[in-house]
Amino acid sequence: MLDTDVKIFWLGHSAFKLVSPAGKTIYIDPFLQQNPKTPDSFKKADDADYILLTHGHEDHVGDSLEIAEKSGCKVVSQVELSHLLKKHGLDEDQRVEFNKGGTISFDDFSVTLVSANHSSSFGGEYAGEAGGLVVSFDDDIIFYHLGDTNIFADLEFYGELYEPDVIAVPMGDYYTMGPKEAAMCCELIDAAVALPVHYGTFPVLTGDPGEFKDLTEEYCETEVLIPKPGEEIFG
Ligand SMILES: [Zn+2]
Repeated sequence: MLDTDVKIFWLGHSAFKLVSPAGKTIYIDPFLQQNPKTPDSFKKADDADYILLTHGHEDHVGDSLEIAEKSGCKVVSQVELSHLLKKHGLDEDQRVEFNKGGTISFDDFSVTLVSANHSSSFGGEYAGEAGGLVVSFDDDIIFYHLGDTNIFADLEFYGELYEPDVIAVPMGDYYTMGPKEAAMCCELIDAAVALPVHYGTFPVLTGDPGEFKDLTEEYCETEVLIPKPGEEIFG
């Protein structure tokens, strides 16, 4: 098991709550209120210090605007999406925009936006390109959320360049890759631990995390953990 002071909770679908060693609370893709997998105790997220978004689709932006209004947190996203969030009510002081390849440092962590092979829109408008997020905690683990994606060869470079310890990999099929492609992504990235996400939320997301685990552990050394929503993963 990884030795880390970062608290990681998967909240169903692509949503995560991370608490940094300094106690900063970070939500990634906080689709919570309408997410049938999110435990009730995690629905509100009014303890947020930061929201990080992979792309603009509703099942990722989720409750971001409402959480931002309640908590005053920063909302970090790709530039076109960031402007759309402002248009829909996000306060300018809370808005943090960046683009692919860019890294921004916050309290005791930094975030890099990287590519994903997917689309992005918000409120019926083009929201730039979908991305993945590399969250690097100072003197601690590197957590790479792939966002929604298909397999693509750059993942091997990302593995070499960012050396992530923990990766969140979509494998539910239909809107993203399924278990086999996701397992091959793990082989390309070569992280210590992979977490399956974006499965089982809706009937069409049929990818089986057990199949993903079996294939991944056949292809490479990455250990696959299948957490329950709300469970602290390395607690
Ligand atoms: Zn999605």
